[in-house]
Amino acid sequence: QAKLLGKNQHSFYTESMKIRTHNLIKAEEDLSLALQRKEFELYFQPQFNLHTDQVFGAEALIRWNHPEKGLVFPNDFIPLAETTGKIVELGYWVLEAGIAYLAKRKLEGRPDLLIHINLSSSQLSDPNFTALVKELLLKYQVPTHLIGFEITETSILEDVHLARVLLQTFKDMGICIAIDDFGTGYSSLSQLKNLPVDLLKIDRSFVMDLENDPDDRKIVEAIIAMAHKLNIRVLAEGIETREQWKMLAEFQCDFGQGYYVSKAVTAEEFNQGSPIVHTD
Ligand code: C2E
Ligand code: MG
Ligand code: MG
Ligand code: MG
Repeated sequence: QAKLLGKNQHSFYTESMKIRTHNLIKAEEDLSLALQRKEFELYFQPQFNLHTDQVFGAEALIRWNHPEKGLVFPNDFIPLAETTGKIVELGYWVLEAGIAYLAKRKLEGRPDLLIHINLSSSQLSDPNFTALVKELLLKYQVPTHLIGFEITETSILEDVHLARVLLQTFKDMGICIAIDDFGTGYSSLSQLKNLPVDLLKIDRSFVMDLENDPDDRKIVEAIIAMAHKLNIRVLAEGIETREQWKMLAEFQCDFGQGYYVSKAVTAEEFNQGSPIVHTD
């Protein structure tokens, strides 16, 4: 009986593992094909100075123009890209597309903007990554101070030592360093004090209840005050209401982005728009 059960269990697990492996292989093939067919596109979400209401930059966010499913959002494929390892290639595509966009802006005589690019932890642990970045900068000849890297607090915590070395290298090159989703990774500001960070992005989860939750208000105010003491600027993610915008400006938060002003839009739409908000 026990033996039989064991055997069944064994074959059950093997079956489910086979399915999982099959799905991952399929996902990897789909992502490779999509890269070949140029189905990915960078969208841009404007980032604002909360004191002047002016756009100073944008976050590049990947989208997949899927031939059958239509517009697919990153949460539906980035995790698979991470598991299969495809994220390294995909991340390289994002980096080149972001830098190429900056080069194109320069060619068209558009004003300088800081373009933030999201990096995944697999890219950080790719030993070729620094060389790839340098190669792209050489190829496109864009000033490094127009490039920002967004790295989540969680991926920094995976290997703080490696992160410190890499971030310092990028910082020395003139690239801006932003910590993404700050507040969700159980790190403390003291863990970040030795990292060469220019910008902290306060996670949307602290912003969305700002009007109603006094605790969130205190947390956000404290993060801003401490960051400023460490000479780090602060950006609030996911601002959806005028009230949140006003409160964050009162808290001396430097920058913001969110649906209140604009979601991520295509490069063409981003170039056309001059989204200045009016907060009275
Ligand atoms: P993230 O880097 O924290 O990006 C912010 C996400 O919040 C974006 O979702 C953005 O569209 C969304 N957002 C912005 N403002 C608001 C708001 O006011 N309300 C709400 N509800 N959402 C808002 P998106 O584009 O779906 O991206 C999701 C995540 O996927 C990103 O989170 C990032 O972790 C990842 N991702 C996106 N593009 C890339 C990429 O090129 N490379 C890597 N490695 N990851 C990426
Ligand atoms: Mg981000
Ligand atoms: Mg974020
Ligand atoms: Mg987030």
